[in-house]
Amino acid sequence: MKNRICKIKRRLTQLFAPVDFRCMICGRDVFDELGFCPECLKRVTFNNGKTCKRCGVALDGEEDYCGNCSFDKTYFDRAYSPFCYDGAVRDAILDMKFNNCGAYAEVFARYLVFAARREQLQYDLVTFAPISRNSLKKRRYNQAQLLAEAFCDILECENLLCETIVKIRETEPQEKLSKTDRKTNLVGSYRLAPKSDVKGKKVLLIDDVKTTGATINECAKVLKNHGAQSVVALTVASRKENFDYENQQE
Ligand SMILES: [Zn+2]
Ligand SMILES: [Zn+2]
Repeated sequence: MKNRICKIKRRLTQLFAPVDFRCMICGRDVFDELGFCPECLKRVTFNNGKTCKRCGVALDGEEDYCGNCSFDKTYFDRAYSPFCYDGAVRDAILDMKFNNCGAYAEVFARYLVFAARREQLQYDLVTFAPISRNSLKKRRYNQAQLLAEAFCDILECENLLCETIVKIRETEPQEKLSKTDRKTNLVGSYRLAPKSDVKGKKVLLIDDVKTTGATINECAKVLKNHGAQSVVALTVASRKENFDYENQQE
């Protein structure tokens, strides 16, 4: 029932803000479902080169794992992102999150489906990273949930979609913190959602962006602690290794 209501709500959003044939960046008409016009597409970085074998972030060097994954234990098994978090994709994601462009989730979900197919991901439950009550109040939607709904909609697997994690306390926005603080900021702020059961499940966890991976790692920790068999994360974009967090303004 809840899924059906979400679906109707989404259809209404689409009706009022059709994005299918508009460039997400400049609004120009496009004649395919890419979401970017040829000009803006030049500012898109696909994450299709060498990537970290655990977290899927783009790598420049010879190593198989990124700096984070070489040293830290992660609760998620693998993570994948079709885009790097920069240029036009970063602009569109920020609009999706903060400027009422929730409908962009429909476009980005196509890329998530593409990545899931390419990587032949196996899952029997699809879930999404939660946001806090306050953010939900302000934004009126959770972009990660919109992505997960659109993803299941395309693959006609709405029966697999389930809200499994809740955010139980307010945290500082990750974007404003240093790399070290990002890792500790979220600890203990997520719980398993009431009545959800993830025991023995192969979970696909969807979110918009992975920077240090702190959010998906904390979510995966909750899922694993409640018996999930595996957690694979799928985010629209991930931030490249060695990114200068300290000097980034968002
Ligand atoms: Zn454009
Ligand atoms: Zn990594």
